[in-house]
Order: sequence, then structure tokens, then C-alpha cells
Amino acid sequence: MSGQRTHDAAAPSTEVLVAGGGLVGLTAALVLRHHGVAVTVVERRRTTSPQPKARRCHVRSMEIFRELGLAGLVRDAARELAGHDHMAAGRTLAQAEQLPLWLPAGPAGPVSDISPELPCLLAQDALEPLLREAAVAAGATVRFGTELAGFGQDDDEVTAQILDVGSGRRERITARYLIAADGARSSVRAALGIGRSGRGVVGRPSVSVYFRADLADVVRGREFNLCQIDHPDAPGGLASVDGRRRWVFMSPGGTAGRDWPALLRTALGVPAPDLEVLSVLPWQAEMRVADRYSGGRVHLAGDAAHVMPPFAASGANTGIADVHNLGWKLAAVLRAEAAPALLDSYDAERRPAGWFAADQSSRRTRDLRGLAEGPDPALAHPLILAAGGFQYPAGALVPDPRRASDPEPVTEFSPAGRVGTRIPHRWLDQARTQSTIDLAGLGWALVTGIKARPDADRPDVDRPDAGRADPDRPNAHRLDACRLHADFLPAGQCLLLRPDHIIAWRGADPAAAASVLAALLHPQSAPSATAEDAARSGGGISPLPATRPG
Ligand SMILES: Cc1cc2nc3c(=O)[nH]c(=O)nc-3n(C[C@H](O)[C@H](O)[C@H](O)COP(=O)(O)OP(=O)(O)OC[C@H]3O[C@@H](n4cnc5c(N)ncnc54)[C@H](O)[C@@H]3O)c2cc1C
Repeated sequence: MSGQRTHDAAAPSTEVLVAGGGLVGLTAALVLRHHGVAVTVVERRRTTSPQPKARRCHVRSMEIFRELGLAGLVRDAARELAGHDHMAAGRTLAQAEQLPLWLPAGPAGPVSDISPELPCLLAQDALEPLLREAAVAAGATVRFGTELAGFGQDDDEVTAQILDVGSGRRERITARYLIAADGARSSVRAALGIGRSGRGVVGRPSVSVYFRADLADVVRGREFNLCQIDHPDAPGGLASVDGRRRWVFMSPGGTAGRDWPALLRTALGVPAPDLEVLSVLPWQAEMRVADRYSGGRVHLAGDAAHVMPPFAASGANTGIADVHNLGWKLAAVLRAEAAPALLDSYDAERRPAGWFAADQSSRRTRDLRGLAEGPDPALAHPLILAAGGFQYPAGALVPDPRRASDPEPVTEFSPAGRVGTRIPHRWLDQARTQSTIDLAGLGWALVTGIKARPDADRPDVDRPDAGRADPDRPNAHRLDACRLHADFLPAGQCLLLRPDHIIAWRGADPAAAASVLAALLHPQSAPSATAEDAARSGGGISPLPATRPG
């Protein structure tokens, strides 16, 4: 691929075009702006999601929002459901009892303090407007009511045709890269001819009925995240959207011949005179993962790359991690600090991670729905999904030869700073404001282990380079050095931390780190799909296959 930019003179240009302004596309815009990349998002709908859909932000997503400076905003927006972490169960809502709070267990008891951020419950229809506003404030161009209608690519750029949904006006836009965050029925994926593999349909069809009813008095004192209703005429799961007036009832079966207000009142066990059904959404849990995450200059992210049953609350969270992984790599390539072949590591890392999340979500569904024949020995510890515990097998990292004998376990949660995993969280100060997760972010960090300090009042970390960005290139991929005492890093050992908090290398010689970093940023060029993908688009713009609006 040439590093030179050649533009269609008539077309406005951007560095990265994002198709789809859902939760993943908007997060992609934020990550790219964080790294100083010019980005345009086009979203077919005129508004953000009207459906609550995903509600749980795992700690790993909160860590990403922390890096983007958004964790406080997200937490504030989530305060309505703060403390609604319990499950509840009963014949009807009126009879339901709150169940004891379940905490994931580790070898030494309940696991806590795994992250500088707590998870939170915030429905997608409340999170997306916040992300949209933040992306615009960060300088992204965000165009709702605008559809990607077709695209083509060559060695240098992507040329897209976009359609103003209201006026029907079409225009061209060029970009160095395209991120397809266009959802499960991704027409970009279809245009690239990328198939999907996986278990396919998992479990039975369900219907999510989104409704309004003032139930604050009914639930007061036994607030819940999800309440399992086992009334024989109205079984299902009642999810809190704001914990007072907005709810989603997930009912097994189809929509035909069902009187939803009557069924909901049976499940609630109270008259709920103000009950109003807002939408009825039939869905079928599926596990399907794209066979390639990249096609030349186009990269799939979020549901476009993977769909999974919702019972591990991992669909949206996995998509957020996708674009966090892709963002710094695109920035490094666009700034010519890395070779384009670095982008091959996106597929090498995120496709196995997507497969793992989708497979585990399917296993969780079978476990929860009683479809499994017995305990599933491969069911991962819940924090592996929630705290980004998946170990990348290959990619922009130097595999540790010990991986074969000492891989990151999945049935228990015991992060130990292995290569290909997120750095374990440890507080860096007694006030608990700074975490090891904060050691990287815009740039890379070289972390060297030191012995514990005898003076307990001083933090066990030195960060001489922290915050010393080059004023002329504030988003350059720099290497900060720091010294740290931590249980997972013996004195004298060092590790190289990527901008996405992933450990890329461990070794004993800090002087080797710069050459390791250079080699990671300039990998041997793998065979590129660009020629094939450009040939598929015939060098010009191919219209996208029609899909139903999501
Ligand atoms: C009932 C339900 C419950 C769920 N619960 C959870 C949960 O608890 N936790 C969790 O993590 N996940 C959950 N999910 C999954 C989660 O909602 C999805 O994983 C998430 O929405 C994926 O985000 P996305 O941005 O990739 O795709 P989407 O949200 O589908 O966004 C894609 C966007 O692209 C737009 N688009 C499509 N084509 C074009 C085009 N050509 N041009 C411009 N725009 C286009 C669409 O209009 C859409 O807005 C749930 C899903 C459902 C249905």
C-alpha cells in the first residue's frame, strides 16, 4: 500500500469513515478523536437507538470510557440504576423476592478491586445520545439521517457514496479507511463477500416488550436488575430500564395472537393502570462470527463482526473493545508511525476474542436455560468476559514462550500480567485515583519492576515521563517509562504496555524495548486482501445490497 494520499478531487475527505452511528460506531469516533484522527460517522437513522437493548457496561468498557474521559459522565447517567445489581425471582413481580447479591468468586473468596472502574447499568437508548454528544464535542463529524449507499477501494483510499435519507441527495466522500459498524445485518460485510461461522441459532425465539408503567412503589426496597417471573401464563424476565417507569419484559415464544398488556399485567401481578406498550421486538439469539474482520481498507466492528446471545451481556461490550483495539492502530498507520501491516493484527486479535465472547455467551445461554446436559467445564469465569481477561494468541505482541505451559486461565480469574492480556489493575496511589490501567493510553509504556519501598507513605511507582507529550505532536505514539512495584512484575523484569492497556512483551532488558516496539509497529507485511477486495469493487463504487433498517 502506498503511504501517499491521492484523493478524488471532487469529494470531501476524512481519515476514517464510520458506517453506523450505533453504540460501536460512536465509540469508534471517540477513540479515533482521542488519537487525533479526523473521522466522519454516517448513520442511516435520524435518531440514536429508541430501544434500551444493552444495559450492562462491563468494567472493561468503563476502563475504555475512563481513558476517553467519559467514565464520570457514564456513571452519572447510570445513577438511576445504581444499586440495582440484584436479581429477583417470583411467580409475579408483586410476589418476587430480591435474591442475595452474587459476587464472582476467586481462589481466595469473592473477587473485588479488579478495576479502577465499577460496572454500571445504563440502557443503550440513554448511552448512545451521551456518546453522540461527546463525539461531536471531540471534533468528529457525525451525520445522522445519512446512509452509506456504496463504496469502492483501491490501494490508497476508500471512496464512498452517501445518501441523505431525507432529501435523497447523493454525494461522494473519500477516506483512508472505512469502519463497518453497521450492525448484525451489515451490508458492508455482505459487499466484501465475508461469510460468518458459528453455532447459528441458540435457544428459542423471544420477544422483548418495552413498556412504561409506574412501578416504583411495587419494587421499592427490592430493586433489581433482572427479575425472573415464573407465572405459568406469563413466564419471562423483567429487566429494569430506569428502575421506576421503564421496563423490558423478555418473553419466550413469538408475537402471534398475544395480548401484551394482559400478559404484562399477569406477570406484574398488579393492575398497573397506566401501563403503555412502547414497542414489541421479536428476536432470536444467534452465535455468528465473521470469517474475516478486515477486507483491504475496510474493518468490521461490533455486531457487523459478531452476534451472540445477550445472556452474558457481551455483545455491545465486545464491540466497544473492538474499536478500542482498532483505533490506536489506525492512528499509528495514518501518522506513518506504523506500517499498514500492523492492521492485520486487528483480525488476528479481535476475531478470536469475538469468537470466545460469542461461544461463552452461547454456553451461558445453555447453562441459564437448562439446555446443557451437565455442568460445562469450559464455561469461563464471568470476570474473564467482564474484565477483558481473554489472552490474544497472536497479533501485535511478542508471544511469551511460557504461554504453552502457563496460559491465562479462563475458568478462574487470576490475571498475572501475561503477554496478550490487559495489565492487571493495581492502585498506584493511596488516594486510589491512578491505576496501572492508566499507565498507557495515548502512547505506550515501558514498565520496569522494582522492589517494594520500605517507606509505606510513598507510592511504589515512579513515572518520570508521565504527561510529557510532544506539544507539536500531542497524539504521537510515544513510549513512557515508569518503575513499579507490583506482585505480577518481579524486580528487574519489564513489560511493554500498548495504548490499549494490553501487554505486548515481557523481558529482562529494558534497553531492548525500543527495538521490540519498532518491530511491533513495522511487522513483516502479510499478504494483503486489498487487491482482491479492490477487484471485487472493480475499482469503482459498488452499491450496497439492500438490508432492512436495523
Ligand atoms: C433485546 C436485546 C438485548 C441486548 N442486551 C445486551 C446486553 O445486555 N449487553 C450487551 O453488551 N449487548 C446486548 N445486546 C446487543 C447489543 O444491543 C448490540 O451488540 C449492540 O447494539 C451492537 O452495537 P453496534 O453499534 O455494533 O450495532 P447496532 O446497534 O445495530 O448499530 C448499527 C447501526 O448502523 C446503522 N446502519 C446500518 N447500515 C447502515 C448504512 N448502510 N449506512 C449508515 N448506517 C447504517 C443502523 O441504523 C444502526 O444504527 C442486546 C441486543 C438486543 C436486541
